[in-house]
Amino acid sequence: MTMRTFAYAQPESLADVIAALGAAPSRDAVRPLAGGTDLLTLMKGDIVAPDRLLDLKRLTGLDDTVEIRDNELVLGALTTLTAIETGSLVGEHCPALAKAASLAATPQLRNRATLGGNLLQRPRCWYFREHLIPCWLKGGDACPAREGENGLHALFADSPCVAVHPSDLATVLLAMDATVTVRGDAGERAIAAGDFFVQPDEGRRRENTLGGDEVVLSVAIPLIPGRTSAYHKAMDRKAWAFALVSAACSFRLDGGVMRDVRVVLGGVAPIPWRSTAAEAALDGERPGADVFARAAAAALAGAEPLRHNGYKVHLARNLVIEALEEVTRA
Ligand SMILES: Cc1cc2nc3c(=O)[nH]c(=O)nc-3n(C[C@H](O)[C@H](O)[C@H](O)COP(=O)(O)OP(=O)(O)OC[C@H]3O[C@@H](n4cnc5c(N)ncnc54)[C@H](O)[C@@H]3O)c2cc1C
Ligand code: SF4
Repeated sequence: MTMRTFAYAQPESLADVIAALGAAPSRDAVRPLAGGTDLLTLMKGDIVAPDRLLDLKRLTGLDDTVEIRDNELVLGALTTLTAIETGSLVGEHCPALAKAASLAATPQLRNRATLGGNLLQRPRCWYFREHLIPCWLKGGDACPAREGENGLHALFADSPCVAVHPSDLATVLLAMDATVTVRGDAGERAIAAGDFFVQPDEGRRRENTLGGDEVVLSVAIPLIPGRTSAYHKAMDRKAWAFALVSAACSFRLDGGVMRDVRVVLGGVAPIPWRSTAAEAALDGERPGADVFARAAAAALAGAEPLRHNGYKVHLARNLVIEALEEVTRA
């Protein structure tokens, strides 16, 4: 493996970071550094080779606070997964997010890993993570996983890439109608989670719409009175494991029937996968085993398993039912 040199800088302001990103010759040449738990691993594996890292942790304009603002739960991009797991505001207003954080990685990693970095981490596909293997997402011509070892890959993919999105938090945030606020050269914009996570395509071999000169500032979750949420995750071991499949569900009860229903699956697509078919099956209905089973079936109706991941269909159906049952009990 080649030993590479790179520069490390501690910019003083967000404006300096944005200017440096905007002036970079390519997206990978200059990278913001948060906890480093994904970026440094990719650098060690020779998957990315930035010339310069810009440490985000000490600059003014980016923070790790969690607060209620204008009827939203707002989390700074530098909030650690530990703070999300243990913080009283998140526990009270979005228990599914606290649970998703608690089930991610290990305690040591959660102390270091930040919310912003978690949303922007790259896929764990083993072909992607091996620098000697070319793959489409890394700029190659084809995806070796389609006909290869695809036991951990997608059931739904409208993309040449069939890797799954690795973030537990992203799955919950989509189910909570969260928005991601970012700032770049052109100013600040708030992006709905459903528009932030997008399937990679020829013009954008990435899983999100963050601009090359943009920094994630915060994530906001609207507080809808009476809405509760739950997150269930299947892992092949109890810690240090990404989701084989996960399900985030939320709704509120209005006169005994479900409203504002969200059903989102993780571990099944290159992005968190919202099922509007499952939501339609639940909306206006009273919670119950039959309607939950119908919704779970609807969520998996269009699944296209690859050779080795058919087991995910059954797993996902059960997780949707479990998560809906938990929301009902909450
Ligand atoms: C062994 C292991 C197990 C794991 N298990 C799980 C799991 O089960 N579930 C799960 O969800 N995650 C899991 N993770 C992933 C982990 O949660 C992420 O690595 C972490 O959240 C990334 O955050 P970070 O602050 O370390 O990001 P970094 O590694 O610093 O950055 C990641 C990327 O985001 C960019 N970036 C970071 N912050 C910003 C910002 N504010 N604006 C713009 N760009 C930014 C960086 O440039 C880089 O490209 C695991 C990781 C490991 C190593
Ligand atoms: S699934 Fe995506 S990341 Fe994995 S080999 Fe195929 S193109 Fe590359």
